[in-house]
Amino acid sequence: MTKKQKALEAIRLLKERYPDAACSLTYVVPHELLIATRLAAQCTDARVNTVTPTLFGKYPSIDALAGADVADIEEIIRPCGFFKTKAKDIVGMCTMLRDDFGGVVPDTLEELLKLPGIGRKTANLVVGDIYGKPAIVCDTHCIRLTNRLGLTTTKDPKKTEFELMPLLPPEESNNFCHRLVMFGRDVCRARSPQCAACELEPLCVSKGKQ
Ligand code: SF4
Repeated sequence: MTKKQKALEAIRLLKERYPDAACSLTYVVPHELLIATRLAAQCTDARVNTVTPTLFGKYPSIDALAGADVADIEEIIRPCGFFKTKAKDIVGMCTMLRDDFGGVVPDTLEELLKLPGIGRKTANLVVGDIYGKPAIVCDTHCIRLTNRLGLTTTKDPKKTEFELMPLLPPEESNNFCHRLVMFGRDVCRARSPQCAACELEPLCVSKGKQ
């Protein structure tokens, strides 16, 4: 089986297990996903989801966040960790969105990567989830699982993205990454993967080796 065939089979099996693929961060408008994803660095999505209602309730727009006192943002987002850097990035990115992008979250990787604190993972998530364009979101689950399956050979997120690009049909890539996150939490965990209960076991080059 070629890597491409294996990727297609993994897509099929994960679709069966998780018909509805979705990001587990809560958001309503595009800039909320951008900020929630920034907050999720080194933090769980569940914890971010407990903080963002307060943040977006007090600062309900890009303009409001751009004009916010960084110290006040720090206090609100403190439970997410690295709160000083994250607060500075949130105000910085909203200032740039207001001043340079007409208050609209851009729809290209190139533009999104200009925003403070935004890396390829977040930029791809926004491009895929907000704008419905092909995107490969290389988070820790995606990197771990695609290595275990033998689809990729690197732990580097950007290299993983480029190794996956020729293997994934563009229209499937974004949801495949969401499903990898779900499967990585439920079955193929970093420690103690549940190989005996794994639908992907026939494709896996790492079964029993973890
Ligand atoms: Fe992960 Fe085990 Fe399944 Fe391989 S067989 S994908 S290591 S859970």
